Amino acid sequence: MQTHRPLRITVESGSGSLRIDWADGLRSQAGFAALREACRCGRCRGSIARGEALRAAEGLALTRVEPVGDYGVCLHFDDGHDKGIYPWDYLRELLIPVPVGETGAAA
Ligand SMILES: [Zn+2]
Repeated sequence: MQTHRPLRITVESGSGSLRIDWADGLRSQAGFAALREACRCGRCRGSIARGEALRAAEGLALTRVEPVGDYGVCLHFDDGHDKGIYPWDYLRELLIPVPVGETGAAA
């Protein structure tokens, strides 16, 4: 059961971060690398299980935010990784709250 819903999702290519404005008024964001390293697809979970650290490439870019029903989004990165599904509640935990009105710099 999803408890959090986004109103607006913004890809900030300049600062390299993804920002979400939530239905309850909270705004939060995270850098592309942090999102990539938090991927929970089968491949990444396998790496973690083997004790391998997930390391995002330097200058990694987010190329596409693909909706996955009402459930969340699939994030496509320019390192070819496009299998990671990020449910809303997971993004809500992952992203760092920022004051509404401030934009730009990644947290
Ligand atoms: Zn992954």
